[in-house]
Amino acid sequence: MYSRKLGVSVVHDEKTTKVRVYVCVIVACKVVGLVKMLGWMVPPPKKPEKTREELLRERREKVRWLVEQGFLRSQRILKAMMKVPREEFVPEPYRDYAYLEVPLPLPGSDATISCPHSYPLFYEALDLGENDRFLEVGAGSGYGAALAREIVGEEGSVATIEIDEETYKFAKRNLERTGYLDILLLLGDGSLGYSPGAPYDKICITAACPKIPNPLIRQLKPGGKLIAPIGRPELVQDLVLLEKGRDGSLKTSFVEEVLYVPLRGRYGWSKRP
Ligand code: SAH
Repeated sequence: MYSRKLGVSVVHDEKTTKVRVYVCVIVACKVVGLVKMLGWMVPPPKKPEKTREELLRERREKVRWLVEQGFLRSQRILKAMMKVPREEFVPEPYRDYAYLEVPLPLPGSDATISCPHSYPLFYEALDLGENDRFLEVGAGSGYGAALAREIVGEEGSVATIEIDEETYKFAKRNLERTGYLDILLLLGDGSLGYSPGAPYDKICITAACPKIPNPLIRQLKPGGKLIAPIGRPELVQDLVLLEKGRDGSLKTSFVEEVLYVPLRGRYGWSKRP
């Protein structure tokens, strides 16, 4: 028997119905996963109510969870995640959700603070460590830069570039309020890098690129590492690690599937500043 409802074909045969239900469940799970990653399930904005102590408890629980899940392995990254108050980098109406595994919206167009697990995902793959000269493209909230500042220590350095003026101002306020005054925060097109600070040991791009921008490859030190989501912004992207050998040779490897906002600027998906 065959019927058509709302343009969907339904075959009334037990075996095929079972298969169809099974396929639908898989598709639904994928869609829910995608929706979550896209941030469509962002909780509603509200007046912050949680106390400092509650948020600190949530931070500790989150770090424990990240270790259990295998995202967080190095002691330096763990210490940084324990120390930096993520809630200070989240806009007030979302502050109570700071430790939920969702990206949260930021002032500016197309900017989000990424979900908590994405920071150790990027930084462990980069092997970000003490004394590194680090460049981040896409400052967003400033949270990723603050974590990096803790990880690289006194002898290291952190520069971060943000293209959107409103987002840049938000990051600036957050970094000043939390006392991260020795991070070089720049307003501009990060796809061009920042040559006065080059060469960098580690570079992290936190927006989806069509391909790794050439100026950033040039500004990477031999022996250095760069990490970036590569792919179209409306689909999941490949998080790719690029390693530059001491002889200047380049090797790329796949890390994970991720979903990021588009890179803008000269080497981005849209040329708008
Ligand atoms: N790392 C951030 C999350 C960044 S979201 C954090 O920890 O909060 C991606 C950011 O990249 C957005 O703020 C977006 O405005 C910025 N961006 C996009 N294209 C850019 C470019 N070419 N240069 C610098 N920033 C860019």
